[in-house]
Amino acid sequence: MKVIDRSDFTALIEELIASDPREVVGVQESGEQYVFDRLESAEQLALEHDLTALSPKKYVMPQRETLLTYEQTDDDYEMRAEADPTGHIVVGVHPYDLAAINQLDKIFIDTLQDEPYRRKREHSVLIGVTMQDVADTCFAASMGTATIDSGYDLMVTDLGDRFAVDIGTFEGDQLLESVPTRNASAEEVERVAEIKADLEDAFDRELAFPPAALPTLLEASYDDMDFWEDYAEQCLSCGTCNVVCPTCFCFSVDMIRDLEGDSGRQERRWDGCLLEDFATVAQGENFREEVAQRHRHRFMRKGWYIYERYGDIACVGCGRCTRHCVAGVADPCEVYNELREGQHA
Ligand code: SF4
Ligand code: SF4
Repeated sequence: MKVIDRSDFTALIEELIASDPREVVGVQESGEQYVFDRLESAEQLALEHDLTALSPKKYVMPQRETLLTYEQTDDDYEMRAEADPTGHIVVGVHPYDLAAINQLDKIFIDTLQDEPYRRKREHSVLIGVTMQDVADTCFAASMGTATIDSGYDLMVTDLGDRFAVDIGTFEGDQLLESVPTRNASAEEVERVAEIKADLEDAFDRELAFPPAALPTLLEASYDDMDFWEDYAEQCLSCGTCNVVCPTCFCFSVDMIRDLEGDSGRQERRWDGCLLEDFATVAQGENFREEVAQRHRHRFMRKGWYIYERYGDIACVGCGRCTRHCVAGVADPCEVYNELREGQHA
């Protein structure tokens, strides 16, 4: 573990903003919320944040991206994959969002071998930060994501006038070369361990059982339509819970032809399983026409289907869905606890 003075950390970020070809983005205040956005200056950083509106997923899986363009030639079409992205340097990522990106890496790189994702991910640098404040909707400790030991290039912990820095990758190590650092003392290493241990008790919300029990619980609850309909009664099918979720990765692909008809592009955009048309296929058949079916699907997918396929519970407990659902029915912690209670009643 290294230690860097706060002023040197600020100088490092300023230097990256000034000279790195990648866009440097970080957590900052925007009105009454925190967001990840382009940094003009290191002074904008709000590393003490509790929760950002959207997660940094948007830098590796943008809301909308062009995958390829095409043009008609004399007797054929010429296709071009979009140019390599330069990537981002993302500053201030909480452990649960790093855990979510680790899940996306497994899906998009290891399994789907998705080139547009892989290129963005490989060109990006993630600078994590140990949580200092906890959102009232967050239950990351229950999901094992309040702290993390992989998935970052650097992970900083605020020690007042200095930061303790864990180096996660060679690129992270290289970043530190331009600024003075020293090895952490035994006391500093112990202080970081204390901060992380204290975090485990800092959450208001808690899953009442180990997440590993979710797949079995959900499988047993699949046919309990009274339960799902009760919840779905309030749901507006707005899809906000999908959009704000750092682990949701469903997308739609559109072919868009230019008006002249001889060129166009293929675009990928976020989609969401709570939206009414999400499961509509040819001839207008909709596999999940009822809100309750879509509502159930979201919770099943997070706690059971994704686990079966990729070995991860696809909820890192960030609490964004709970914070942003105007109907108050998106909270996985509440839903899973109620299901469990019902089973043991
Ligand atoms: S659960 Fe809430 S956020 Fe999700 S679609 Fe329904 S109303 Fe919207
Ligand atoms: S389901 Fe909700 S709490 Fe879980 S990761 Fe997604 S947004 Fe966060």
